[in-house]
Amino acid sequence: MAWVILAVLVVVQVATVSGAGHHRFGYTKPEQRRWSKSHESCAGKHQSPIAISSGRAISLNIPAIEFVGYNNLLPGPITMHNNGHSVSFSIPKTDPSKGRHPYIFGGKMENEYELEGLHFHWGDKNNRGAEHVLNDVRYPMEMHIIHRNKKYKNVAEALGYSDGLTVLGFFYQVVEQESSEIGYLLPGPVTRFCTYKGSLTTPPCSEAVTWVLFPDLLTISLTQIRRFRVLDTGMHGSPMVDNYRALQPIGNRRVFVRKVNSRNTAIDVVRNEIDHTKWDWTF
Ligand SMILES: [Zn+2]
Repeated sequence: MAWVILAVLVVVQVATVSGAGHHRFGYTKPEQRRWSKSHESCAGKHQSPIAISSGRAISLNIPAIEFVGYNNLLPGPITMHNNGHSVSFSIPKTDPSKGRHPYIFGGKMENEYELEGLHFHWGDKNNRGAEHVLNDVRYPMEMHIIHRNKKYKNVAEALGYSDGLTVLGFFYQVVEQESSEIGYLLPGPVTRFCTYKGSLTTPPCSEAVTWVLFPDLLTISLTQIRRFRVLDTGMHGSPMVDNYRALQPIGNRRVFVRKVNSRNTAIDVVRNEIDHTKWDWTF
């Protein structure tokens, strides 16, 4: 984990818009309302992001999320791409002779999910930027780490299935103090998380995502977040800021929160809860 994030924040300062002709969409309110004209799913009933209240979430014994092969991620070229609406990083396939491609399992996932890439959403000011709202707080930045269910051969195929992707969401708080690179790049603890079923937060808004959101905050310095805020959208010289989607109705979905005080997260204990009606993603 630390390696991924390190690479990101070091490289972002050289980001310039690329990929002319790439599909464009905007984040103003009228533009967001138009997303569903070309992408029907954007008007779906299980869209993201949503506002999450940990008090109203269902507390369950959920297995931890396990990270495999993340330490082998570098060396290897990580391709960064300014697509005009975010900065994204594609993770190349790991050469099998050099170890396994990073993947995750656990949580409420029923399979292993391979790392595909990551990107960010951020605001022009510190009071906005994240997509999900956690306990009425909108943080200034949210990172999405995308994983694809191993049973699908690529992301395009995975988008057609409700268990296609798992996206890990991390939130940042801005700190004035510059710290050593490693200090502010280390991720927070990953033992606590919320999880729910939703969608991509950009067109085509496919309802293929198991969201896992970690409430323990990461930090980013003012200097670093300013490097994101001066990135260019490639449209009328406007800066790429406030690239977050409006909150979507939660509808009949449940949000689960992992019980962390419990030691009883062994798989057989968890299985006892699987029959429980509360385990379903919707009610
Ligand atoms: Zn995202």
